[in-house]
This record gives sequence, structure tokens and C-alpha cells, in this order.
Amino acid sequence: MNIGTKVVAPATLSELENQNEFVRRHIGPGQQEIDDMLDAVGADSLDDLMQQTVPAGIRSKALNVGEAQREDVALAELKTIAKQNKIFRSYIGMGYSNTFTPNVILRNVLENPGWYTAYTPYQPEIAQGRLQAILNFQQTTIDLTGLPLASASLLDEATAAAEAMALAKRVSKNKGANAFFIANDVHPQTKDVLKTRADMFGFELIYGDVSEATQANVFGALLQYPTSTGELVDIREVIAGVQANKGIVAVATDLLSLTLITPPGELGADVALGSAQRFGVPMGYGGPHAAFFATRDAYKRSLPGRIIGVSKDSRGKVALRMALQTREQHIRREKANSNICTAQVLLANMASFYAVYHGPEGLKSIAGRIHRLADILAAGLTQKGLKLAHTTYFDTLCVNVSNKDAVVAAALKKEMNLRTDLAGQVGISVDETTTRKDIADLFDVLLGEGHGLNVAQLDAHIIANGSESIPATLARTTDFMTHPVFNRYHSETEMLRYIKSLENKDLALNHSMISLGSCTMKLNATAEMIPVTWPEFGQIHPFAPLDQAKGYTQMLDQLSEWLIDITGYDALSMQPNSGAQGEYAGLLAIQRYHASRGESHRNICLIPQSAHGTNPASAQMVSLKVVVVNCDSKGNVDLADLRAKAEEVKDNLACAMITYPSTHGVYEEAVREICDIVHENGGQVYMDGANMNAQVGITSPGLIGSDVSHLNLHKTFCIPHGGGGPGMGPIGVKSHLAPFLPSHSLFTLKAAGTNDDLGTNSAVSAAPWGSASILPISYMYIKMMGSDGLKKATEVAILSANYIAKKLEGHYPILYTGRNDRIAHECIIDLRPLKEASGVTEVDIAKRLNDYGFHAPTMSFPVAGTLMIEPTESEAKAELDRFIEAMVCIRQEIAKVESGEWDAIDNPLHNAPHTLADMIDEKWDRSYSRQVGAYPVPAVAADKFWPTVNRIDDVFGDRNLICSCPDLDSYREFAE
Ligand SMILES: *Cc1c(COP(=O)(O)O)cnc(C)c1O
Repeated sequence: MNIGTKVVAPATLSELENQNEFVRRHIGPGQQEIDDMLDAVGADSLDDLMQQTVPAGIRSKALNVGEAQREDVALAELKTIAKQNKIFRSYIGMGYSNTFTPNVILRNVLENPGWYTAYTPYQPEIAQGRLQAILNFQQTTIDLTGLPLASASLLDEATAAAEAMALAKRVSKNKGANAFFIANDVHPQTKDVLKTRADMFGFELIYGDVSEATQANVFGALLQYPTSTGELVDIREVIAGVQANKGIVAVATDLLSLTLITPPGELGADVALGSAQRFGVPMGYGGPHAAFFATRDAYKRSLPGRIIGVSKDSRGKVALRMALQTREQHIRREKANSNICTAQVLLANMASFYAVYHGPEGLKSIAGRIHRLADILAAGLTQKGLKLAHTTYFDTLCVNVSNKDAVVAAALKKEMNLRTDLAGQVGISVDETTTRKDIADLFDVLLGEGHGLNVAQLDAHIIANGSESIPATLARTTDFMTHPVFNRYHSETEMLRYIKSLENKDLALNHSMISLGSCTMKLNATAEMIPVTWPEFGQIHPFAPLDQAKGYTQMLDQLSEWLIDITGYDALSMQPNSGAQGEYAGLLAIQRYHASRGESHRNICLIPQSAHGTNPASAQMVSLKVVVVNCDSKGNVDLADLRAKAEEVKDNLACAMITYPSTHGVYEEAVREICDIVHENGGQVYMDGANMNAQVGITSPGLIGSDVSHLNLHKTFCIPHGGGGPGMGPIGVKSHLAPFLPSHSLFTLKAAGTNDDLGTNSAVSAAPWGSASILPISYMYIKMMGSDGLKKATEVAILSANYIAKKLEGHYPILYTGRNDRIAHECIIDLRPLKEASGVTEVDIAKRLNDYGFHAPTMSFPVAGTLMIEPTESEAKAELDRFIEAMVCIRQEIAKVESGEWDAIDNPLHNAPHTLADMIDEKWDRSYSRQVGAYPVPAVAADKFWPTVNRIDDVFGDRNLICSCPDLDSYREFAE
């Protein structure tokens, strides 16, 4: 018995409290593990390691983003900020509608790390679930638009329209034409984004009434159907007329309306595009949402972005993977169709599940109800003498009003937003969430109370008399979504299991580390994700009046200020909604800057050999000519080559694009000199910010001497990868570039961090602040880490990479190292000598890692025949050790092939990954046991992840391109 004995308290109150702080949860290794890892790499402390690794001349002073805050405190504070957003009923439309996210999708997809922490499906054998969901998205697009080929998702409707314009230029046979036609009644934000692109490509834009499209000499035209103000115009003849002049016709459209009206494909369109937002994805103040894009089969090689295609695996079983990859930036670089890398996969998946859950009949009834509400509204208003701008419509009315200000004010008083940018008119879009009471409220607002209208009576009148608001010639007559996948999962139980069955096929961060070099697959903490689905962030229309979005404004301003501090820049734009879009926006700012100084002739962009494919692809989008700079044998930019090339083109040098630390994973000592050389020759420096995880709190692009960078908030700042998106790519700039940041047609934006009014600068994205609703993730991260935590994260990321390099260097050559033989936050191991000696390829090793329960690191970028490993700070030492063990065991397996102990073909590397189908195969006749195949080390048995298909045949799939859901017979055919 200890009664009466005092227990000595082991720590102070604040020490006890600190033991539960977020920083310790975010950073995987604890203090003991950090010490052990420091021992292993031969450094005394994290600071010592930094001294050894980071060039002295670029070390920055401490960050100034405040102290780390506890999860609960940070969440409570952000909730207070969010509550300043006012959720008014939105009737604004313009491509953004209220929608009900089915709760089974909200919880089991959007809020489920099994879906949101997955990576882009570059390793399809462990990604069949999301590949199936995206294929369903493509099938939905194909069926609803009536065009045979669809891609996996684009960033938003406006950029999809810009991609359509670029495609039109590529494929149009009207080679002499340099003009593109835009119908007047296209969404204003789409016109804005098209203007930016057209300016940069040197295209002329011709605006006019739809009917005028046929009179212009153009390579293409964009029409909107239903139009931005809601009208349904029969565009068959216009389409045929433009095509007769060899122009390509793109039609921006609304998926839900297409359940009731004739699809663009049946009207003859060459391209259909738009936003799938209203398929269950919240408006979120502008995004993220998936855009869809469909075209003719003949243009498949010109299609922008990713395409999911059907192929077969080594057992002949149907298997999905990304198709025709050779069209795109990572292979074709400046000749690519687009610069798209991160897209909107998570949102495309949500939209596809929405389609699966409702099925064709469900969608038709949702659309039918919306259309009826619009009819009722129209009937009431016209009965009382108001004039509609159009007599045809699906969900949007454009009402002529003599007292617009009073109407808008009356609406605001009732907490309703109407579309207000049209002179003498208001726009009203109804949607899935609109109720009868809402219609009655709209009558009150437009007609004043006491109008005597009755929704039920109006409904009865319409039923009795029919409606002509969808003209008979435009009524949809064809079936859609007849595939079984859309007709099977309509009960919640069935849906839940379908979502789960797909999730089970995919390896995501909630299973094991995904050490993707350059992609920084770090923790996406739950506390960061929670605010994303708060209605205060989700239910705000991007064009809502600013005084209703004060919470967003405060959050955006604060986050911008922090990111400016972290990057060492002066100003920031939140508009770009991916890293590649950031590159485009940054290069655009550079080109606008040169033009402002009378130097618009500058058109050369220097890019090192090792650059990411988006760099040259983005350069091409602003009509820059790419000149490639060599790298030396140590992986650094070859300074002599850079200097010679810069001097040679100095009269026309626009910029250089560099990545820091380099994509070779080292802190180049000469980075300041690189910037100087470019500046001395009249160019600007674009620093690709994808590797910011090795800079935060240690150094910064601004300090180093760069002029502009994008940040991949979905890499460094914790936005999850979502299976290939969403992301956010804000750009930071030095003050001289601030006036050239994108603005928006519906708002006059300021460059964050400055008072510079951006005036009429045209836009790069549909929404003024890009995908604003995922910014709380990065906000929460910075808030919970604080200045010290962020710096420590960088240090531990560098430590973890050096630890892996140290442990693997005796087994695989480390390709590049910097000062003191250190690497930055990632390391490249060279597999080429092994391949030479054994015939085992980098693909074999990548697939074999699946058998060990791991996703492969980045393969063959930036150097063919290598793996690039980035562990990040979030992985505990135990997980790093498990990965190291797998890599070492694989090396021993390779040795057996090398020595001839294992046959060159009949070995577990060549046959990887191993599936359950292999295990239960009665004809197992391999030279190694089933256990060696599927359970190569004991750790695997504890938590086995089964790839659901065997190795996939890419070539077969590209030769026989199928990008829609295969019918059930083909499952049998392939198997035979
Ligand atoms: C990821 C990445 C990009 C492209 O960013 P996205 O957000 O995917 O568009 C550009 N450069 C590098 C080095 C990257 O790793």
C-alpha cells in the first residue's frame, strides 16, 4: 500500500500537453527513431544533417506562420471563420448547381481515405477499383453526350472548352483558318479562360449569335446547349454549316439536361464538354469538380488528358489501365495535347457513383422534376405579365425585369441569390434541391407578395396542357446508361457494397506507404479533411456576392499570407487548380510582363533535360519555344551549357524553368548562379515548386532568386491525391510579376499580398479562387504545424530519404548525390546495371513490390530504368524498414535470376504481381512455391494485399482501344 506517498510528477503541464500535439502525429518517426536514423546516416542532429545537405548560401530565416495549434482548437477556430460564410439559396446557375450528395457517397467516397488517399493509377494492378469507377464516368459521359469516346476528367468546364479549342486547331482541315467562334450565350467565365488561351496561341476570337457561326472562316466553334441563359436552340444546322466549312464544333453542355434533350452527339457535334458538378459534388465556392470531355473516335489521339481503357492481364482477364499515354505530357512533352497531369479523379468518381446510384430512370426523374419546377415558375411569371427572354429551357429562366435592383434586393432579403450580371434581366436556375416552397418564394420575390399563384394549380395546369419548353425536335429519344452497372446498385445496401468492393481492389495510403518521388504522398490528416465537407464551405456558389463569403475570404487571405511567407515571394494567386495550371499561369505572367516592357518577342524557354513533362507542355501553351539544357553526370544542370544557350538566345530569352531541389533529388549548389545567368540574359526564372517539401522552413524560391513558382498543395500541403486529383496549384510571384496574375470576368481580383488591382487580366480557371473548398486542408496543416513543425517536417523528410538511401546503397546504386554525398527528400536508385546483368526490368521490380504490399515508387522518371523513392516525413521508421526489407529481399531475388538459380522467365519477379487466381490455380507448375510468390516475407502475411489482376498488357489495350464499360461477353471472350 502506498497511501500517503507522494508521486513525483514526471513532466510539466505543457510537456504533458505537448505529447498529444499534432506535429508529433504528422511526423512519423518519434524522437528515438529520429535519433536512430541520424545514427544510421552519420549525423549528430537534424540541424547537423541540414548543414551537411543544404548549401549554406540559401538557408532562410525562421518561418513566420505562428505556433502550432492543437487539432481541436484549430478546428474550432476554422469553424468560427467558416460560419461567416452565409449559405443563401443559390439560383445563380452559370454551370454551378446545388446538388444532393447521396450520403452513401459522401461518407464512403469523399470522406473515405480508401478513396481519397489513393494515387494516380500508374500501377493498374492495384488500382482496378478506381479505374472501374472512372470508366463508369467515361461511360456516363459517352451515353449522355452521344459521342463515342470520353476522357477520364478535366479540371473545369472553362479549361475543358479551352482544350476543345486546342483540339479543334489540331484536327480541323481548315488549315488556313486562325479564328475560333464563340457563341454569345456561353458562360462568361468560359469566354474569359478561352480568351487567355487564344491570346497565347495567337488565335483570333469571333463572338456572335449562334446563327452567325456558319458565316465565319474558323477552325472551330464553341456553342453552349442549353445556353448560359437557359435557352434550348436547335443547333443541328449550325453544326453542319460550320463543319461544311471544315470547322470543328464543340458544344458545352449540362449532363443532367441530356437525360431529357437530344444529346450533342446526335445533333452532330464533334466535341461535347462541361462540368459534372451537379452529379453529387458540392459547389464548394468553385471546386473541385470534374469536367467531362467527349469526342469522335477519329480524334482519339488528339484527346487531352487521361483516358481509361480496357485491356487484359497475363491470364487473359479483363483489366483496366490508362490508355494511349503516349499522347500526353510525360511522354510527348512540348508536343503533348495538353499539360494536364493532376486532374479531378475523386470528383469524377463521385459523379460516376451518383450516376450508378440513380441509374437512368433516377436521373430522368431528377431532371424531370427540375424541368417541371422551371415550367411552373415560367407559367406563374408569364401569367402575371413578366416576360421571359426565352420560351425554351431546361432548368434556367432568364427574366426581363424593369426593376432589377429591387428584385435582386428582395431576393437577398429572403437569403436568395439570383444571377445578376445580365442587363435588365435576372437569371434563375433551379436544381435538384429546389422545393415547392422555394418556387413560391421566387414568386414573392419577382411579383411581390399577394400574387395569388399556387404551385399545385400551376402543376395541374401544365399536366393538363403539356409543355413546349423542350421543343419536340429536341426531346431525347434514345436510351442511355443501359449497361448493367447503372441498373444494379439502386438500394443503399447494394451501393454500399459496390463502393466497398471497388475500394478493396485499390492500394491507398491507408494500407502502406506510397513512396512516389516528386509526388510527396504524405499524411492527409483527418482533422485537415473534416472542414472540406462542412456546408459552410460546400454550399457557396463561386459567384455569390463577396459579402456572403467572408469566411472564405478570411481563410484565403490567411493561407495566402502564410504561403507568401513560406515561399519568400511577394504576391500569390489561388486561381490555378493544379500544378500544371500553375505553370501555365506563371508563364503567362512572365509573358505579360515582357509584353508590358515592349519585349513580347521573347519566346525562348530553357528547360533542363530532367524536367517534369508538364514544364515543356506548359511552355508550349504560351507559345514558348523550348530549348533543352543538358544535365551533367552528377545530375546537375550543366552550367556551361546553360550559359552558352542563354547567351546565344539572349535577345529572345523569355525564361528558364528549373526544379529545386532538382528532379534528381539533390540541392544543386549552383542554383543561385543559374538564376543569375538567366536574369543577366534578360529572362525570368520559373521554379517548379513540386519539391517544396525539401524547402519549407529551410530555404525558399524567393530567397534563391526565382521570380515565380507554383505550389502543389496536393503534395507539400497535404491535400490528398484522390486517385489522380483534385489538386491546387497556386502561384507565388515577386512583386514585378504581381500585376500580371489572372483576374476574373465576374470579379476584379487583387493579387494576394498586394493592393494591386488585377483589372481585366483574363483568367486561367473557371472559378476566381480555383478549387477553393479543398484549401481548408492546407490551412489546417499549416495552422496545426506552426513555423517549427513545418521546418521539422522538412528536416525529417530529408532524414528519411537519406536513411533509405543509406540502407539501400549496398544493394542498389544511388544515382545522384549532392554535397557530402547527401540527397534531398528523394533518391533515385539505378536499376539499369541489374537489368543488364539479369534481365529483370524496373517494371518487374515495381510489380514485385505489390507482392510485398507496397505501391512502387516513381518509375523511369526523371531517368529511364530507375526508381525514385520519396518517403516523406509521415512514415514511421518501422514502415521505412519494412519497405527497405522488401527492396533488399527483391535484390536477393534478382541475384537468383542473375546466377541462374531461377529461370529468366519462370521466376517471381517476371510473374509479379501474384494474385489469388494464381494461388488457386490447380496447374501451378512454377519453379518456386506459392508462398514465395505471394508471401515472400513474414510481414506480408500479417496484412496481405491482393492485387486483383495479373500483369496488364498495355499494348493490347492500345491496339484495341475501348474506353467504355465492356459488355459482359467480353469478360468471357478475353478469358478464352
Ligand atoms: C506533380 C508535378 C508537376 C505537375 O503538377 P500537377 O499538379 O500534377 O499538375 C510538375 N512538376 C513536377 C516536378 C511534379 O512533380
